[in-house]
Amino acid sequence: MQLLRSEKLKSLFESLSSPEGIAVINPATEEELLRLKPSLLMELDEQIEQCRIAQQDWSKLAAKERSLILKSWFQLLVEHADDIATIITLEQGKPLAESRGEVAYGASFVEWFAEEAKRAYGEVIPAPSMDRRLSTIKQPVGVCAAITPWNFPIAMITRKAAPALAAGCGMIVKPSELTPLTAIAVVDLAHQAGIPKALLSLVISEQAAEFGQLLSTDPRIKKISFTGSTRVGKILLKQASDSVKAVSMELGGNAPFIVFDDADIESAINGLIASKFRNAGQTCVCTNRLYVHESIKDEFVAVLLDKVSALQVGNGREPTITLGPVITMAAKHRLEANIDQAVQEGAVIINQPQKLPGRFMEPVLLDNIEQGMAIVQQELFGPVLPIITFENDEQVLAMANDTEYGLACYFYTDSLKRIIKFSECLDYGMVGVNEGIISTEVAPFGGIKESGIGREGAKQGMDEYLETKYVCLGGIN
Ligand code: ADP
Repeated sequence: MQLLRSEKLKSLFESLSSPEGIAVINPATEEELLRLKPSLLMELDEQIEQCRIAQQDWSKLAAKERSLILKSWFQLLVEHADDIATIITLEQGKPLAESRGEVAYGASFVEWFAEEAKRAYGEVIPAPSMDRRLSTIKQPVGVCAAITPWNFPIAMITRKAAPALAAGCGMIVKPSELTPLTAIAVVDLAHQAGIPKALLSLVISEQAAEFGQLLSTDPRIKKISFTGSTRVGKILLKQASDSVKAVSMELGGNAPFIVFDDADIESAINGLIASKFRNAGQTCVCTNRLYVHESIKDEFVAVLLDKVSALQVGNGREPTITLGPVITMAAKHRLEANIDQAVQEGAVIINQPQKLPGRFMEPVLLDNIEQGMAIVQQELFGPVLPIITFENDEQVLAMANDTEYGLACYFYTDSLKRIIKFSECLDYGMVGVNEGIISTEVAPFGGIKESGIGREGAKQGMDEYLETKYVCLGGIN
């Protein structure tokens, strides 16, 4: 933490540290960065109550006042971008350039929703009879809870907290226990910007299931927004059903990346590298399986091997590194088991990955993959790429849709007909056409099928935190 420039942040972390607390580990060096005092389950009740009280005042502010406070938060995030990026690389492992990108991306949600705060429009509805006037107004949902993962330690928080606050809601955030330091810095900057402490607060704990249970069942919490695995999402959905909470779920993905025979190969490979190896393959929209037309496969794989061998694995603090460690040893062992199983089923490793120490992993390209293999159905979340060939459009469409997931998908082609047909027929919430990185604060992010419920970012992201109230004004003669 000595690397940070801000004395305020340094002393904040010092004040929150405790020798007996939760150890935050640098995945690149496996050194302990800090031990944090954990939140206590018995204090959550009061935290929710304080949020409820603060939310009532916050919702009474004019939209413009909330907007201005969010803009100050955005400014502070931009001013502290270097420190936040350093924290992300230290606790999460992604290369520093990617961490800087994530800070800009994370801050962009705060800026966007500061603007959207002023546009929570209701409607006037033409009434069916002249003695009535009908309208709708938009009102905040109330107190919300967010549970966020470790792969985007800032963006997954701001993408939920910014629209919630813009709409007039309060929020309790439980970040991943693996990346709590970014969350602490980002929420502290929110408080410095004027967002009341009780309105936006954190739960730092390794008791994820226990806190998750309380947050998803307390009747004072009206909405739960979760980003993480489909397994945990299903637990939260069940728990939230007892009090009929609103839910937003951003869950797992199994993104296909299709390269047709008329694609620009160079551009497809650049898109694939970005989509597959960003964050060491640990994003829910990362390419999970490559489908390449049989007539171009040899040429495509030859160029791909070349590009993949140029990736530099190592500690993301070093400027030449493009692939950081995976998050835990357990994640590495899981990936190795996935690869071993695929090889037993007939897959062939076509590059020469070295065995690396600690949590580092070289990229692994797997050829000879059949659609029925387990590796095609699993969300890999790591730098491993199964390659499948296809003969025709119908066949690849069926294979691409053959999954319970439906988050992101990608395809490369020059044919307008294919662009239209595949954009419409791929069963996914997001489609990248001749583009491997598609996420932005101005477009709706989210999945269908078992990849989730709801959308984040864009104008749709604001609706997730608003209720529509219908007002019927009668007796007008
Ligand atoms: P990942 O596999 O990406 O770590 P998880 O779904 O396990 O995804 O974790 C995402 C978030 O959910 C983290 O903040 C984690 O602490 C939390 N979490 C894990 N298990 C539970 C649970 N049973 N109930 C609520 N939250 C949980």
